[in-house]
Amino acid sequence: MGELFNAIASFLPDGFIASDEPGKITFINNTIEKITGWNLKELIGQNVSKVYSLLESNTLKPSPDIASMKSQAAILFKKDGKKITVPAKQIEIKDLNEKNKKGYLTIFFTDSSLNSNVDRAHLEFVSTVSHELRTPLTSIKGFADTLLRTKEKLPEDTQKKYIKIIRDQADRLTRLVEDLLAVSRLESQTQQLTIRAVDLQRAINSVCESLSSKSSHKIIQNIEKDLPPVLADADRLEQILTNLIDNAIKYSPDASMVTLAVLSLKNNNGIKEKIKIEVTDHGIGIKESDLPKIFTKFGRLDNPLTRQSEGTGLGLFITKSLVLALKGDISVKSKQGETTFTVILPALIPAEGILLEGTGDIK
Ligand code: ADP
Repeated sequence: MGELFNAIASFLPDGFIASDEPGKITFINNTIEKITGWNLKELIGQNVSKVYSLLESNTLKPSPDIASMKSQAAILFKKDGKKITVPAKQIEIKDLNEKNKKGYLTIFFTDSSLNSNVDRAHLEFVSTVSHELRTPLTSIKGFADTLLRTKEKLPEDTQKKYIKIIRDQADRLTRLVEDLLAVSRLESQTQQLTIRAVDLQRAINSVCESLSSKSSHKIIQNIEKDLPPVLADADRLEQILTNLIDNAIKYSPDASMVTLAVLSLKNNNGIKEKIKIEVTDHGIGIKESDLPKIFTKFGRLDNPLTRQSEGTGLGLFITKSLVLALKGDISVKSKQGETTFTVILPALIPAEGILLEGTGDIK
C-alpha cells in the first residue's frame, strides 16, 4: 500500500473500502473505522458483506468523469448492529496486493456530499424500500425455483408448505405496496379527506368484526353512552382503529384481552368537544427508549414477537399522520404486560350542524 495513498485516504472526510475480486477487504480508511466502529484489523480479509451492502451492482470503470457520475445507495453495517445509509460509488481498480488482478474501491460519501436532511431521508427511504421489497422477492423466487426443479420428488405437504410461503410473501408485498401508496398520498398531501360526523360505535363494530374473525383475542368494548359523533373521515377513522387494534392483537399473547375504551372530553363550558379512544393490550410492551422509534417510517422493534409477526413498520407512521390530518392527537404509554395507545379526535359540537355520516340526518 503506497504511503501517499494511505496518508491521503486518512485525511479525507469520505469513507474508503478496497476489496479484491472475490470480495475480501484489503483496506479501509480512518473514516470507515470512525463511522462503523470496526477497526482495520477486524475487517482485513473479511468479506465486504460484513460491513456494507450496495443496492445496485453498478461498478464504474475508472474514467476522468467519475466524479460527476451518479451515486447509488449503500448500507453500512456498524459494529453495534445499527445500519446507516449513505451514497456510494464503486470503482474498478487493480487489486492492491496482486496488481494483475481486478479489485474494487468503494467510496462512501459520509458527510460533505449530502446537501440536506431531505436528500438523506429520501435516500434512506429508497434504500429501505428496496430492501423490504427484495426480502419477500428473494423468498418467492427461491421457493418457486425449488418447486420447479424438484417438484416430483417433494412430498405433497412440503409442496403445499412452499406454495403457502409464496402466497404469504406475495401478500406481504401487496401490503407493503398499499402502505407505501398511503405514505405517498400523505406526504404529497393528495389524500382527500371527507370530514363528516361519524358514528364511532358503528366504525368500531365494523373494525372489530373483521379483526376478531382472524384472531382468538377477546376484544372488550367499554364505550360511553350518548357519545357525540366524531368529526372525521369515516374510511380513515376505520384505518386508524384497524391499525391500532391489529397491533394490539399482533403484539400480545393469543386469547388475551384487548380493551377499547371510548369517552368524551368536555371543554370549560361543559360541552363534549373531543373524543378519547384508548386501545389497551396485555402483551410484550414497548421499552421507553424505543417509544420515539415506533411512529417513524419502517420503525420495527427488534424483539421476538415483532420478528415473528408480519408487518411493514409503516402502520403507526400512517396512523399518526392520519390522526394529525384529522386534527387529532395520538400518544402511547407502555410497560411490560400493558400497552395503551390513546387517540383524541374532535367531536361534533351540535351547533356546527354537519351531516351525520350514513344517515342523512342533520344534527
Ligand atoms: P408493524 O407493521 O411492524 O406492526 P407499526 O408501525 O404498526 O409496524 O409498529 C411499529 C413497531 O412498534 C412494531 O414493529 C412493534 O415492534 C411496535 N409495536 C406497535 N404496537 C405495539 C403494541 N401494541 N405492543 C408492543 N409493540 C408494539
